Amino acid sequence: MSAPAASLSVDTTAPAIRVVGVTKVFGTVPVLRGISFDLERGKVLSIIGASGSGKSTLLRCLNYLERPTSGEIWIDGEQINPAQIARVRAEVGMVFQQFNLWPHMTVAQNVMEALLRVRKLPITEARARAEHYLAKVNMLEAGARYPAKLSGGQQQRVAIARALAMEPQIMLFDEATSSLDPELTSEVLDVMRGLATDGMTMVVVTHEMGFARDVSDRVMFLHQGVIEEDGAPALVFSHPASERCRQFLSKYLG
Ligand code: ADP
Ligand code: MG
Repeated sequence: MSAPAASLSVDTTAPAIRVVGVTKVFGTVPVLRGISFDLERGKVLSIIGASGSGKSTLLRCLNYLERPTSGEIWIDGEQINPAQIARVRAEVGMVFQQFNLWPHMTVAQNVMEALLRVRKLPITEARARAEHYLAKVNMLEAGARYPAKLSGGQQQRVAIARALAMEPQIMLFDEATSSLDPELTSEVLDVMRGLATDGMTMVVVTHEMGFARDVSDRVMFLHQGVIEEDGAPALVFSHPASERCRQFLSKYLG
């Protein structure tokens, strides 16, 4: 039987994400050079590594914002191909460093937009769902405001609510706090921590080593498009096998 068109069939025994031998070449430059890993459902994976190591490209491959040059991506037990991009996007939500809210729409309209246009929900249902997820990120009161009137931390929380409102199976975060002042960073990290506690499967590219250490089940260090280190945070942060990972961490941890 084929899966319903609106979503991937969810095989609950399969890993949430399976990446097999993924490469990505831009022009002649290999950016991902054979990435393979499985991520179990409900786990939080943090990806760390220097600028240019391929972290964003890997995340973008996971929801097909980039098409891998070779290799396989499986989501919830189903291999992804270009014909399924819309379905993947429905299952895999993504939050970016730049919040990308629509400036001409209120907070509530930002969250409702894809529910109306993509999910084709009736407006009352879209509004109720938007309110539910805005409440989850502590932004319910801001529904009638415009993004320009909000702090960066508030805007990012709205962007998270917008992604959550699509009710994805997996959430990807690409340096979601990197453009925020420290006091605004913590309010966004608190929301992400809450999602992790609720059991959301998450892949988090971050420079917040405290978050990576305390919240994730697993930490991966990328170097020049290769996974150099992959393990439990306690192990990676205290006894990295890779010398490069050790050097990278020493810059952050002092
Ligand atoms: P990171 O997120 O770890 O900083 P990226 O995945 O953004 O790394 O980039 C890895 C490498 O790929 C960099 O050298 C970057 O310049 C290059 N790159 C990323 N996107 C593109 C693109 N669309 N075209 C060409 N090169 C790209
Ligand atoms: Mg990046």
